[in-house]
Amino acid sequence: MNITCDHCKGTFMASGEQTSFILDSQKKGMRFIMLECPSCYSGFSLNPQTMGQSLPQKTTDEDHLRCPVSSCYGLISYVEDEKPFWGCGECGTVWFTQTDLFEAIEHSIEKYPYRAKVYTKKGNIFFPVPLENEPNNYEETVAKE
Ligand SMILES: [Zn+2]
Ligand SMILES: [Zn+2]
Repeated sequence: MNITCDHCKGTFMASGEQTSFILDSQKKGMRFIMLECPSCYSGFSLNPQTMGQSLPQKTTDEDHLRCPVSSCYGLISYVEDEKPFWGCGECGTVWFTQTDLFEAIEHSIEKYPYRAKVYTKKGNIFFPVPLENEPNNYEETVAKE
């Protein structure tokens, strides 16, 4: 399976792990996954249904919020599709409004208070904290939820 990286435009052969991730996400009906390019190490998004090159994407302040889904520590990206959404490239969850996304974050913090450490809240808006300010074992702790 050949994939083109959205950043360096290089084409590479999907690894075994990436291929099974893509096939799995096609089965689950996911519209958005993140893959890592083996040449430039950038993460880029892919629509597994169309295998189309990444959906037009715009960077927003909410980019790279940690995913609020239980036991998922993926990063959220804003994707400007016909119907724009925020999506987690790891578990494929999407939110169509910022309100829904922020509610999901609030619920995850109620359930797992340590998760509050990866966000800063200004007014009603959640922003990600820089990766170096996250608790060291954040991903391990989330994986055990
Ligand atoms: Zn690349
Ligand atoms: Zn997720």
